[in-house]
Amino acid sequence: MSLNIAMDGPVGAGKSSVADAVAKRLGILHLDTGAMYRALGLKALRDGIDLQDEEKIDALCEGLKLDVRVGENGQETLLDGENVSGLIRTPEVSMAASTVSRYARVRKRMVKLQQELAASRDMILDGRDICTTVLPDADLKIYLTASAEERALRRWKEMRERGDTDSYEEVLSQVRERDEQDMNRPVEPLRQAEDAVLLDSTNLTFEQVIDRIAEMAEEVRHGN
Ligand code: C5P
Repeated sequence: MSLNIAMDGPVGAGKSSVADAVAKRLGILHLDTGAMYRALGLKALRDGIDLQDEEKIDALCEGLKLDVRVGENGQETLLDGENVSGLIRTPEVSMAASTVSRYARVRKRMVKLQQELAASRDMILDGRDICTTVLPDADLKIYLTASAEERALRRWKEMRERGDTDSYEEVLSQVRERDEQDMNRPVEPLRQAEDAVLLDSTNLTFEQVIDRIAEMAEEVRHGN
C-alpha cells in the first residue's frame, strides 16, 4: 500500500514549500491540489466566464483538460497541454481559485482526480480538504497553520522578491479575505480534522517544520 501524507491549512501557511521539501526528504511525490483549482480559475478568467455563475463554472470544469506531472522544479500543471505553473500564481488567479472551489460539483471532480492520483503512489498532498475529505484515512494527517500576520508577512516578502509592490497591509487583507471565503463556504470549508496533528509554524523555522513532519512520517512508515 502507498504511503499518503495529507496536509491542510490556510493561505500562506507554507504548505506548498513544506510539502515540496518533505517530499524531497522522503523521496516521495508532492501533489499541490491548490494548483488544480487555480488552473480552473485561470481558464474561467481567460474565457471571460462569470465566476459567480455556478452552472457555467461546473460545465467548464467538466470539460477541463487538466494534467499534473513532476518536472525538474516540482509539479507542473498543464491546462489543455499548456504548462501554466507560473501563470496560476497571480493574486487574481488566487482569488478566482478560491471562488470556483466553492462549487460542489467542481469539488467532487477534483477530489476524485486527487484520490486516483494518490492511490497509486507514495505521496504528500496539500490543500484545504485533504484530511477531511480527499484522504480521511491517510497514514499521517497534518494541519499546518500560523498567525494571519505571520502568513501575510511571509507572503509579502516572497512577493517583494518577485518585484511585486503590494503593501504589507494589502497582503494581510488578501490573506484575511481568502481565509474568510475558504473557512465559511458551505461545501467542505477549511477546518482542522479532529484527528489531524496541529502544527503551528508561527515560531518555527522552515527546517524545524520539515524535521517534525519527516520524523512523524518515518514513525508511520516503520509502524511505530
Ligand atoms: O493552496 P492554494 O492557495 O494554491 O489554493 C488556491 C485556492 O484553491 C484556495 O484559496 C482554496 O479556495 C482552493 N483549494 C481548495 N481545496 C484544496 C486546495 C485549494 O478549496 N484542496
